[in-house]
Amino acid sequence: MAPAAGARCAKHADAAAVDVCQRCGTFICGECVHIRAEDEFCADCALILDRPAPTRPKVAFGLAVAPLPLGVALTLSAGTVGTLVGLALLLPLIASALALILQERAARQRGQAPLTGRFYPLTWVMIALDLLATAGLVGFVLRAAAHR
Ligand SMILES: [Zn+2]
Ligand SMILES: [Zn+2]
Repeated sequence: MAPAAGARCAKHADAAAVDVCQRCGTFICGECVHIRAEDEFCADCALILDRPAPTRPKVAFGLAVAPLPLGVALTLSAGTVGTLVGLALLLPLIASALALILQERAARQRGQAPLTGRFYPLTWVMIALDLLATAGLVGFVLRAAAHR
């Protein structure tokens, strides 16, 4: 996208802008243009794009996914004691996933993490499912205790 005639580079006031950064919309001169995936970006945005994809959401997603099959297996197969032991194992996993995804959210709000990536929303969904499953397991234990 070409900038309007007479536009100047945001970094070099004496240089005519030849392009607009596709991420932040800054005017950039020929010296400031950074090409990434056939699009033009300013130096700051190119730096952000060059960062490796964060592993935090992926790890958080793994931690959030693991408790579900485990929780279902425990409910179906193990007795009350087994379910209690299972809860003691699952809750730290869920807490770790939640801690990681909250760190990621804070990093996003500070602009230190890319806003793309499907693991971030998926992790929130998984944590919600984990909490539902946990409530189910607790209910199972309580019902079992009441029948004794
Ligand atoms: Zn930019
Ligand atoms: Zn420039």
